[in-house]
Amino acid sequence: MFSTFFVNTCILVTFLYITGLISQRYKIRLHTLKRKAHWIGGALFGCYGIILMYYSFPVGFNTIADLRHLAIVATAAYIGGPATLMATLFICLGRLMLFGITTQAIVGAFFMMLVGLGCALLSHLSWSRLTKMMMMNVFALGIIFCSLTINLNDINDVLDVYPLHFVISMAGGFLLYLIAESINTSNELLLRLEHTSYTDHLTNLSNRRQLEFSLEEQLPQARQRHEHLSVLVLDIDHFKEVNDTYGHAAGDAVLRQLGQILREKCRSFDVVTRSGGEEFTVLLPNCAFRQALRIANQILGGVDQYEFVLSDGLVLKVTVSIGVTTFPDTGEDMSGAALLEQADRALYEAKNAGRNRVCSYQV
Ligand code: GH3
Ligand code: MG
Ligand code: MG
Repeated sequence: MFSTFFVNTCILVTFLYITGLISQRYKIRLHTLKRKAHWIGGALFGCYGIILMYYSFPVGFNTIADLRHLAIVATAAYIGGPATLMATLFICLGRLMLFGITTQAIVGAFFMMLVGLGCALLSHLSWSRLTKMMMMNVFALGIIFCSLTINLNDINDVLDVYPLHFVISMAGGFLLYLIAESINTSNELLLRLEHTSYTDHLTNLSNRRQLEFSLEEQLPQARQRHEHLSVLVLDIDHFKEVNDTYGHAAGDAVLRQLGQILREKCRSFDVVTRSGGEEFTVLLPNCAFRQALRIANQILGGVDQYEFVLSDGLVLKVTVSIGVTTFPDTGEDMSGAALLEQADRALYEAKNAGRNRVCSYQV
């Protein structure tokens, strides 16, 4: 009996680990789960519950004991009410299909349905997750006690199994909590780390690393699909003067607001990056030269008209210079670095020609 419960706990922990790996692979975050993910999560934990039943312990005629309710408790604590009902449905159907439709199986499935409903309701309470899991576990064990009493008819038979079932279930529930929390925390940290390593902290745009990564991805794709890939490199004119006159914080405010303008003027799938101090680069996938020029001029005009507001309410005007280049117009066999270099040269030309203008790279 002990070994069965031990195996149940090991199975649950293994599945939890696998679920953690899946969440990590697909960047699934518990607090931003979509409706579809709720159903899939519920079905997955339902399957775990069914597998636990397969490793159950027979405690009487057609009656079994296992830790399947912990799959329901975990679903309720980590995913939510609808997923809990889904997992419960899977487990109840599994109970009937695995062991046949006997009176004991129907009683077992019915009481497990009560466990599911109760846990789904308890999942809405604003207690800590540990308290919720412990309460759900105690609630489920209470229901299981009723189910075993009805199925076994003899209270002594129930008492032969129940104390150990209770202790292992509570210990297993706690272990489940510890492991799930550790997996959840490390997945969260990994996602946050990934986000910060590809994001510019000041503007929240992509950073240079993301730019290089995207370019490495986009250039072969454009080549393969015979599409254009345009690049804009933008630099604020006389930005040093802004810093010198109004201070570094004012400069930062300008950078943040410029980032916002770029986001608004570019398409949703363009890769807008702050590639250096006051230099921004935009990758425009599937964008021919004329369209890139149009976007660049919209940015130029947008910045020219924009009034940058500083924290003390002071209003400031700045201009930008932009260099544009388009693959494959300026060369077929080109690396990402060479494409950036072309846009940089066009920018240099715009600066030399007097600033506040767009220049394109000429072959
Ligand atoms: P140009 O028109 O030729 O581009 O002149 P510029 O003054 O913009 O160019 P320069 O390269 O001389 O100066 C860039 C300035 O950008 C210097 C630096 O202090 C400032 N800068 C770089 N990164 C940041 C930042 O994160 N915040 C602020 N506030 N300033 C920055
Ligand atoms: Mg500048
Ligand atoms: Mg510069």
